[in-house]
Amino acid sequence: MKVDIVTIFPAMVKAPLAEGVVGRAIGRGVIDVAVHDLRDFTTDRHRVVDDMPFGGGPGMVMKPEPFFAAVDYIRRERGTPDAIVLTSPDGARFGHPEAERLSGLAHVVWLCGRYEGVDERVRQYLATDALSIGDYVLSGGELPALVMLDAVARLVPGVVGDEESVARDSFVGGLLDYPQYTRPAVFAGHEVPAVLLSGHHAAIARWRRREVLARTALARPDLLEKTTLDDDDRVLLREIRRSTRDSEE
Ligand code: SAH
Repeated sequence: MKVDIVTIFPAMVKAPLAEGVVGRAIGRGVIDVAVHDLRDFTTDRHRVVDDMPFGGGPGMVMKPEPFFAAVDYIRRERGTPDAIVLTSPDGARFGHPEAERLSGLAHVVWLCGRYEGVDERVRQYLATDALSIGDYVLSGGELPALVMLDAVARLVPGVVGDEESVARDSFVGGLLDYPQYTRPAVFAGHEVPAVLLSGHHAAIARWRRREVLARTALARPDLLEKTTLDDDDRVLLREIRRSTRDSEE
């Protein structure tokens, strides 16, 4: 997978990409990430990327020309991208489905805004998508681009060592993950659930599925509504609902 990120703060984007799962994937050439300094695509002496908003109002707006020039350069040097994502708090919400869609593409570009935002023509005539990572405003698109890239990269085959661990992650099956424990079996008097030490694989699988359903029902009932459950799941859910009712009484 090829990725290009356009920003006025390339160092801020490069540092996190040097570490961890994504850093290793880049090192092994599984994903090819290029970070571009937006100021390299200005034509004036002062390398200006922002200007005053038409119609007045506070703050500065990012000019369209450097973004269009950066994408022209990417097309020339790196090939035609399959998606050009503008990071934007008023974009569609980025979630697991968008991560999956983008992970299936061969080449994705992220454009990072700053200041009051980006001239609307970038969104209308250059970006293929405008995506938000949540209902809060950050001071720039760098962290959102990194968040999205990290989530997308994990789904690209060969990025996460143990494929199974991705298949089992929260949201992948539409539900949350089960709780994890490691040694020691007793920590500060707190015991690991006995079933996990039993060596009884079927019992462990059932306990984990029950935890997945119970946690999702408690924290994210909206996710349960959207997931197709099998008969075993429905039996477990009835059990869970009965036992929470009993404990409330
Ligand atoms: N005035 C804008 C906020 C601009 S924040 C508004 O009220 O909508 C500056 C830049 O940070 C944005 O252009 C975008 O690139 C990025 N950004 C801020 N919050 C974001 C979020 N929740 N998701 C994605 N990008 C975000």
